[in-house]
Amino acid sequence: MPPPDRASEQALLQSVAIVVAAGSGERLGAGRPKAFVPVGGRPMAAWSLDAIAAAGIPRAVVAIPPGHGAIAEDALARGDLPLGLAFVEGGATRSESVRNALAAAGPDCEAVVVHDAARPMVTAGLFTATLAALAGADAAIAAARVTDTIKEAGADGIVVRTHDRSRLWAIQTPQAFRAEVLRRALAAGEDVLAQATDDAWLVERAGGTVRVVESPAANFKVTTPHDLALADSLLC
Ligand code: C5P
Repeated sequence: MPPPDRASEQALLQSVAIVVAAGSGERLGAGRPKAFVPVGGRPMAAWSLDAIAAAGIPRAVVAIPPGHGAIAEDALARGDLPLGLAFVEGGATRSESVRNALAAAGPDCEAVVVHDAARPMVTAGLFTATLAALAGADAAIAAARVTDTIKEAGADGIVVRTHDRSRLWAIQTPQAFRAEVLRRALAAGEDVLAQATDDAWLVERAGGTVRVVESPAANFKVTTPHDLALADSLLC
């Protein structure tokens, strides 16, 4: 990784990371919230906090499942982690969790980078790359090029269209935002927030400019027991 230039150093100093870790992880079936499930010998969310600290981002707010404050402190707060860490209760939807964390981040940050705790393979470089790509955009989001052919089918299973995959991206996190843009986007109604599978969509629908940043191959989301086994083998 080349050292960050002055402009990106400035962006890092005024940034805060939001780690959304308030999902139940039902599809994983591990009997506890996904963020605390061990992977590579550590609670899943701990890997993301390490990458955030290594990127030089000074603060992180973690949205956790209600009632899990003591467990989160125990699993994630480490004295040697060079990161100002705060925990907030998440909401019923992912976007509500982001909104609660952003409120806790306070008014003084200029850039916010939102990350799923369910992506423990994230690198420090991807955090800095998304923040740096905010220059001239409202949001800059990690994304992987689509390598499969994508077809659209109706409810009857009949294909209606084949998309041009050279223009398609599978969207991931981290997603970096100008803080004010994200605050405005998250002021949408509950019905809109409930539809959002990522935060950048909320910015797009408000007319904002969203840029993709190509991510390394392994930044997948741990959803199923198979994903967990794969992440475990890669992080051990
Ligand atoms: O459900 P999905 O896998 O899309 O969740 C992505 C991330 O959002 C996970 O890290 C999960 O913990 C988080 N999440 C949250 N609050 C919710 C739902 C999901 O923080 N209400």
